[in-house]
Amino acid sequence: MDRTAEVRERDVDRVLKSAHAMDLRLVRFLYVDFGGIVRGKATHAAGLADRVDEGIALTTAQMASNALDDLLDIPGMTAVGEVRLVPDPTSFTVLPYAPRTGQMTCDLMTLDRQPWAFCPRAVLRRAIAAAADEGLDVQAVFENEFYLLREEGGGLVAADDSPCFSTRGMDAHAPFTDDLIAALEAQGIQVEQAVAEHGGGQQELSIRHAPALAAADHQVVFRETAREVARQHGLRASFAAKPFADQVGSGAHVHLSLWDVGSGENVFYDPGAERGFSELGRQFVAGVLDHLPGLVALTCPTVNSYERLLPRAWASAYTTWGFDNREAAVRVPSTFWGREQGTTNVELKAVDPTANPYLALAGIIAAGLDGVRRDLSPGDPAGVDPATMTPEARADAGMRRLPETLDAALTALAADQVLVGALGADCHRGYEAVRRSEADAYRDMELERIFAEHRRRY
Ligand code: GLU
Ligand code: MG
Repeated sequence: MDRTAEVRERDVDRVLKSAHAMDLRLVRFLYVDFGGIVRGKATHAAGLADRVDEGIALTTAQMASNALDDLLDIPGMTAVGEVRLVPDPTSFTVLPYAPRTGQMTCDLMTLDRQPWAFCPRAVLRRAIAAAADEGLDVQAVFENEFYLLREEGGGLVAADDSPCFSTRGMDAHAPFTDDLIAALEAQGIQVEQAVAEHGGGQQELSIRHAPALAAADHQVVFRETAREVARQHGLRASFAAKPFADQVGSGAHVHLSLWDVGSGENVFYDPGAERGFSELGRQFVAGVLDHLPGLVALTCPTVNSYERLLPRAWASAYTTWGFDNREAAVRVPSTFWGREQGTTNVELKAVDPTANPYLALAGIIAAGLDGVRRDLSPGDPAGVDPATMTPEARADAGMRRLPETLDAALTALAADQVLVGALGADCHRGYEAVRRSEADAYRDMELERIFAEHRRRY
C-alpha cells in the first residue's frame, strides 16, 4: 500500500472509532456547489464503514443547480450521469448543534475514481499541488464577518444597533458568541479574536490559519456552525456580502502565507526587506493584483457582493496594495513583536463569505503563483486611501477600479487564461453558467428586494 493510502486508512479508522464512540446516527457527506451553497447527503452510521470508501451517489445534475435552486442545463452536468461524494476523513467533525450527527467534506469523484472536472475541492487540491511543485506550502484562513439578524414585520432586521468595537455589541450577544466558540472548538477550530463590528448586529470571529485545504474546510464548518448556533439563539446569522444598503458589508478577508517545504520557513518574511516583507511576497501580491478583476468573480461571487466593493468601506475598490492600508485590496499587516517570521502574511480584502472557499482559495493561489513565476512587481505600496487620489494619480500608480457588477467580473474571469486554466475549462464553464444565471435572476429586481433576498438566502 502506498503512503497516501496508508495514511487515509489510519484516518478512516479514527473516524469509524469516533463515530462509534459518540454513538452517531448520521454522518453528513458535504460539498460546496458553484453557487456557494453547502449541500450533501447523510449516511446512517451503520453504513459508514462502506460508504467512507465507496462514497454516496450524486447525480451530475445537482452541480448544475444555482443558489436559487434552479436546475440549469449545463453540458456534462445533466440528469444522466453520476458521481460519488467521497469524504475526506481528515475533515471529520461531530456536530455540536445537531443530535448524534457527524460530518465530512467530500471530493466529487467520477465512477472510475478520478477527480470530477467540476469538483471545487479538486481545483483547490491542484492549486496546492502547483505550489508544492515550487517547494511551497500554503497557509491560509478566512476571516469572517457576519450580521446577526432577527425576524421583524415579515423581514430581517439587525439584532442590535451597537457602535463599532463597543462593549454594548459584545454584551448584546455574549451567550451566542460563547456557544459559537465552544462549538468551533469542539470541531477542532481554534478561535483567535472576537469583535463587535461596525454594522449594527455585525460580528467578526477570527480563527487560526491552517494548510489551504483545511482552511477551506474550516470555512464550511464556520459558516454552518455560526448559522445553526445563531438559530438556536433565536437569531439569524447572515453571511451576505452586503445585507443592508446603509451599513458596511461583511468581508471574509483571506490571510495567506507561503512556507518553504524544506526549511519550514515563512518565505514572505525577509528581515532585510522593507517591513520584513520579502521579494517573493511582493511577486505574489503582484500576481493577485494582476488577476484581481477576474479573481473577484470567484471571491466576491454574488450580485450583492458588488454593493460591498466600494471606496471608503474598508472592503477595497482598487487593485492596489499597502502596508497596514485598510483601503487597499491587498494589505500587508504589520507583524507582532518577536513573532515576525511567524506572523508575516498578506490579506486579500476583496473576498466575502458567500464565496465557494475552495474556488476562491484556488484562484488566489494560482494568481499569486503566476506573479512569482513571471517575477511581477506590484509597484510601490499605497501610503494613502486610493479614494483620496485623483483618477489620473490612480491610473499613474496602476490602480484599476475593481469590477462593479458580477457580470463584469465574470467577463474578466473568462478572459483570464491563468484563472480559467486553474479552474479547468469545464469547471469554468459550469461556474460561469451558474453565476450568470444568478445575475440574470436579479437583473430586473428592485434594489431593496435584492438586498432582502441576499440577507435571507446567505
Ligand atoms: N467590513 C469590511 C469589509 O467589508 C472590513 C472591515 C475590517 O477591516 O475589519 O471588508
Ligand atoms: Mg473586520
